[in-house]
Amino acid sequence: MIDVSGKSVLITGGASGIGLAAARCFSAAGAHVAIGDLSGSAAEAAALTLGSSHIGLALDVTDEKSGAAFVAAVEKRYGRIDVLVNCAGIADSFTPTLDQPLEQFRRLIDIHLTGTYAMCRHAARLMLAQGAGAIVNIGSIASWTALPRRNGYTAAKTGTLGLTRALACEWAQGGVRVNAVTPGYIRTPFVETLIAEGRLDEKVLARRCPSGRLGTPEDVAKAILFLASDMAGYITGAALPVDGGWIAYGAPGDASLVD
Ligand code: NDP
Repeated sequence: MIDVSGKSVLITGGASGIGLAAARCFSAAGAHVAIGDLSGSAAEAAALTLGSSHIGLALDVTDEKSGAAFVAAVEKRYGRIDVLVNCAGIADSFTPTLDQPLEQFRRLIDIHLTGTYAMCRHAARLMLAQGAGAIVNIGSIASWTALPRRNGYTAAKTGTLGLTRALACEWAQGGVRVNAVTPGYIRTPFVETLIAEGRLDEKVLARRCPSGRLGTPEDVAKAILFLASDMAGYITGAALPVDGGWIAYGAPGDASLVD
């Protein structure tokens, strides 16, 4: 069993989807969880469902002052930060490249890549002073392969792995580990919206996946918990696919039989 009793865990984008599942997973394993999300009320409501030793606060990862204030508030409440999980994110537009406003590309990089970088720095100031800490970033199948018409998303998620490796090497001897998970298609509000808008076809996704199904937020949360825990004490700079075999598959056509 993985035990993170008494650890202080900060999760960005923790009011929804993968971040919320991670919050539940860490709290069930004994940690104090601080949820940061764009909507402060959603973050508070999510924290309340976990119990009174958890907090939820407004956070915009693209705003450096907001990130610094969030980390300071968590430090004030728990006295330290043991784990940072960077789950904040938005979907790309699927617009043909020549029609994509540059601002859309910038926004995706700003939230996924620069936001992750900024939050890693805020948290690492404390972690390095403590001489211990673990960071888990969220990549995607877009970290390994191209998603056409999702340029900002693909570039940001590819960059997230480079950033993860660079920070891991810089901070390894300071006791701070930095890893990433790269989820496949996971049934969260993010993906449910794309399915509802007709941008993704659930059956096509399931057939393309060797496991024959979309992932659950809990599938990803368990991998995040493992990478953040002492069970992964000698793992840093790694990227762990949590995708039902999606990236492993290279043959033409469907990978699984789904009606
Ligand atoms: P959700 O939309 O369910 O959750 C993302 C959360 O991040 C939302 O609450 C969102 O708020 C919040 N958020 C957005 N922008 C910011 C910001 N600037 N500052 C703080 N919080 C913000 O998405 P998922 O759980 O599906 O995604 C989580 C991460 O996992 C993302 O990085 C995504 O790219 C990645 N991922 C998801 C996959 C999937 O299939 N679901 C697959 C691979 C990777 P709001 O709702 O108000 O925008």
